[in-house]
Amino acid sequence: MIDPKLSDWGLYIHIPFCQARCTYCDFNTVTGMDEGDYRRYVEALLLQWERITEVPNGQLISIFFGGGTPSLLQPDLLARLLQAIRGKLQIPLQHVEITMEANPGTVDAKRLRQYRQAGVNRLSLGVQAWQNHHLARLNRIHSAADAEESFQKAREAGFDNINLDLIYGLPKQTLAEWQESIEAVLTLRADHLSLYQLQIEEGTPLATQLKKGLLTLPPSDLSADMADWGRAKLVERGYVPYEISNYSLPGKHSRHNRLYWTMNPYLALGAGAHAYWYGKRWWNIRGIRRYMEDLEAGGHGIAGMETLSRHEEMQEYIWLGLREEKGFSRVRFCEKFGINPESVVGPIFRRLHQQGLIERRGNHVRLSARGRDMANYVFREFVGFLQEA
Ligand code: SF4
Repeated sequence: MIDPKLSDWGLYIHIPFCQARCTYCDFNTVTGMDEGDYRRYVEALLLQWERITEVPNGQLISIFFGGGTPSLLQPDLLARLLQAIRGKLQIPLQHVEITMEANPGTVDAKRLRQYRQAGVNRLSLGVQAWQNHHLARLNRIHSAADAEESFQKAREAGFDNINLDLIYGLPKQTLAEWQESIEAVLTLRADHLSLYQLQIEEGTPLATQLKKGLLTLPPSDLSADMADWGRAKLVERGYVPYEISNYSLPGKHSRHNRLYWTMNPYLALGAGAHAYWYGKRWWNIRGIRRYMEDLEAGGHGIAGMETLSRHEEMQEYIWLGLREEKGFSRVRFCEKFGINPESVVGPIFRRLHQQGLIERRGNHVRLSARGRDMANYVFREFVGFLQEA
């Protein structure tokens, strides 16, 4: 797996519409909008794209339609966005990874074929669990059978690069249920699998239920067992663990994810989306109507911008890189910051190494097996060290 070049960049496009609100979700999404709203929003995205004055010099290697539920958009709207990107950059897009997140139950065979024809070449389906009682508790709009059907239809429509998401640590979830979910997605032979631990986010219905004592989460050692079992099973079936939560068949890793973890630049269109561009970070207006109104009134849809300090950039580079299985590249660190990482974080490297939490492999520094189980502790140690340095 070759690292992206320092100048390779990506484009994230946020589509904030959902049919229903999942009980664990705190993303910037809205329900109850109609076709007219979708079209108006896409016009706003086109305006924002048009008003980006600095067209990057490097190579665009990934476009990611995330959400929300991008598959609520009619294929002609996605096609218009892709045409506008192609037109402005004056490059063909067939070598660009173009991912669309989709919810099972929102796509049929015809629509999937049209997305493929529009240029989408990678699909990410939110399966989450294989037991309908868990899907119902999460307020997902689909069943396990819908997920399987959407996957098969996507294959028939020509998608040869499909990711499936699963969540572990669900309320009352047993190890046997988690194993059943993993076995089920393995029979589909998806190209890429993402296994996420449930996070209880403030303000979500799950957080409220938890506070009221109406919810039981699996104990942390059971969640750790789920993660370990999933990892071992996927590796046994030929999947490469290339990041803490992500596994792919050889050559099918997500280019877009890797751009984030190697701290490459990315632009972002859409309400609340964040961009990073060589030391600067900016974010778009979060409110969907306000975002559209700002662009319609001649604005750029941007809510704020900050310049990262050198230490903040190093901190992000290290903790994002440590998420990857191979760790972060010391050579790349030198290229990016003009300094050897040991001269900045040498003491914390030595301490974590002595504790058996990180290890050096050639030019990379990575989490050890024990360090993976204590990843949050390792990240906190790095962040704390750099803040004090
Ligand atoms: S479909 Fe995805 S974005 Fe929409 S509410 Fe559910 S988890 Fe959130």
